[in-house]
Parts: sequence; C-alpha cells; structure tokens
Amino acid sequence: MFKLALGAGHGFNTAGKRCPKELDPKQTPEWWLNDRIADKVEALLASYDGVAVLRLDDSDDGADDVALATRVKRANQWGADFYLSIHHNAGIYGGKGGGIVAYCYPSASKASFSWRDKLYEALIAHTGLEGNRSTPKATANHYVTRYTSMPAVLLELGFMDSATDVPIILTEEYADSCAAAIVEVIVGQENLVRKQGTCTVTVRGIPSRGEADKLAAEMAQRGYTATVDGGEQEEVSYPCTVLLEGMPAILAKNIVPFNPNGPLSNWNNTISGSFSASKQPCSILVQDGWVKQRFACHYWYDRPESVLYRLTTGEVGIARVGLTDELPKGLRWAVGGLGLLDNYDPTAEGFCKLTNKEGKTENFSDVLRDTDHTVLGYKDGLFYLIYCKSMTAAQVNAFAKKLGLEMAVMLDGGHVAAINGADSFAKINLKQKQYYAIQGE
Ligand SMILES: [Zn+2]
Repeated sequence: MFKLALGAGHGFNTAGKRCPKELDPKQTPEWWLNDRIADKVEALLASYDGVAVLRLDDSDDGADDVALATRVKRANQWGADFYLSIHHNAGIYGGKGGGIVAYCYPSASKASFSWRDKLYEALIAHTGLEGNRSTPKATANHYVTRYTSMPAVLLELGFMDSATDVPIILTEEYADSCAAAIVEVIVGQENLVRKQGTCTVTVRGIPSRGEADKLAAEMAQRGYTATVDGGEQEEVSYPCTVLLEGMPAILAKNIVPFNPNGPLSNWNNTISGSFSASKQPCSILVQDGWVKQRFACHYWYDRPESVLYRLTTGEVGIARVGLTDELPKGLRWAVGGLGLLDNYDPTAEGFCKLTNKEGKTENFSDVLRDTDHTVLGYKDGLFYLIYCKSMTAAQVNAFAKKLGLEMAVMLDGGHVAAINGADSFAKINLKQKQYYAIQGE
C-alpha cells in the first residue's frame, strides 16, 4: 500500500494568503486553490488499487488552518510513504511571469529530489506554466519538508500576484491539469494499477435505452458490474459521448482523419490522432480517398505499422503495412498507429530502440509509457474514439480487449492526448496544437 500524505497549504481565512483584488475581484484564497487541486488528486487516485491518501489540512472547508507541526506529526505517525504539500506562490507584485516552482529540503533524500524533479517536469508538460524563476526545481527550508520522516515535496503551482499566472491558475482546466500531472507521476513511480471489475456506462441522452442496456449486458458477460445512467430517448443518433469505465469516449458511425493544424477546441466530436512530426502527420493518413501521409511512422527503420481503414464499399479492416500502396484499393480513409488486440506487437512495429541504414539509433519505446493515450477502435458497426487516462500501452491493450473491440490502434499519447466530446468530462487538453486528429460523424 502506497501511503500519500497530502496537504492543501493554509486555511480558508489565513491572513494575506489570497489573490489580490486588482488581479482577482473575488480575492480567491490560496487554500481554496490548493484544496481544489488536492481534491482532484484524491478523486483520480480513488480509481487505483494499492494507494491510501491522508489529508492533512481541514479539507471540508478550510476553516481550521492546521498547524504545520500537527500536519508533520500526523504524516510521521501514519507512516506515510510520500508527503506532498500544495501551495500557490506570491512575490511578483502584479508583474508578469512566475510559474511553477517545486521544492524539497536542501539535504533531503535522493528520493525527495527525484519526486521533485518528476513532479515539476510532469506539471510543465501538462500545464505549460513553465517557471521563469532562476531555479524552478528548488530547495528551501520549509518546515514540512524538513521535519517529515519520508520523502517530501512542496509545490508552488503558480503566482497569485502575477498578472499572467492569475487568469490561468483560477481556471478549472488548470487545476485538472495539475492534478493529472501529479497523479501521472505517482501512478508511474509506484506502478499503481487501475481498479478493475466495475464498469459504469454513462450514456448521455442520445442512444436508446435498449442500446445502452445491451451494452451493459455485454459488459456484465465479461465480468463487469455495469450500470446505465440516462439514455431514455428512443431516437438513436451518432456521434455520442459516453464514459467507458471512467474513460471518455465518442461513439460514431464513421470517422474522418485529418490535420487540424491547431487545437481541438475548434473541432467537435474529435480526438487527437496518430503521430506527427514537424507539424505534419507521420503515420499513415488517408482522408476522403486522398493519401495525406503514405508512410508508416517507422518506415525509415523498415518497420510497418497497424492501419485501420475503411473502403468506399463501407468495409472496415486492419492491416500491418509500411506504405498505403500495400492496403486494399478503394480506400475511403486510413489511420496508422500501434496495433492492439491481435496486432499488438510493439517491437514488430518499431516501438523500441531502432537503428536505421545510416547507423542512426533512436528509441521509440517512450510511446509505451504510462501516460494518457487515444485509441481508435471498431466493433459492430461503431467506431470508438477513446481517451485512455494514465495507462501503459499494455494496459491500453488490455482495456481494448475488455471493451470487446474487434479492431483497434493506439494513437499518440503523452502531452498531446486530447478529446473534444459533447460533455464536460470529455473535454481534455483542448489548447494543445494538433497535426493529426480524428473526428467522429
Ligand atoms: Zn502557501
């Protein structure tokens, strides 16, 4: 059991700890910002096995500014494995810049420094709020990092008195990104595994109750507890946004792969697509019969990729090829990626260390790491555009199997994974520029 001691700094009414009126008319208290992120971290971790969280602040309403000595004592007595203190900074006095700073105690253990650096890198990757201080990965003599008997990090997640940070740190989206980054690091570091066995199918209004019940019954056959919310309408129309075992997804009758050359906020019913480089798709992409990218992403290393395609006849198929030329004639569209299910073989598709004919070696195995990924799948006449949170490629593959997909490819992941569905739970990472996307229709 990994025991996380988690504290939102200060209390709701702690003097001086709030955004200044000139930048935020509501003068949002620091504890409120800290608590919002801590709550999200707790909520995300709740879907993992093998982790327990002890909140050290007054997490109900922050009325009590719990003393630092009390916080440290509780964490030490509990035997926490890691202590994380969440704060927001001050000291810019209405100027610009600031960003995120991560601290540990100067003579802290190696583990503390490692946590600090990983958390900082993940937070920057997720939020883009890069620290412009001289040392964003810093050390300081904070009481809570000094007197705790386990690795400890204190995060300052942006400046409450920076004209540029405040409009960002007040948003829900920023808090979501911070929590996702923190949980990504914890899950990766501790190899936490997502809880299995329950599947809540949340159907939002569009498919008929009968269809939703059918899906739930199928899930039950595969050993899940499946429940259905909503879905009372008789008329079925696609695309629709659903949650599959906590993962946002868009179900569609057909798809269009394309290069949006910009963020998904401009495109409804869309997920981030396959691999891109130099602002161009670099995995196979055929759009409306036009070959936009002819080569597999590791073609230059003599490795093919798995390609999900549809013909003008409507037929859907999957093949492992290096070039679009090797696919059947009459393509309507094609999307290349990492093959899943029967096609799952990352090494065969070059998601490993590779050396090309010129002797240049590159390692492509980072695609397999525990991060957010997107998946394009097909089953029973429906395309599944799924956003998979915090999974390794192997976990994504296991998830595709559990959903009973007939064919599936994993697309790009890491900081580019994004979805723009109809519901707020399916709006993730909409500012990231994309050069390969898939729209459901
Ligand atoms: Zn603070």
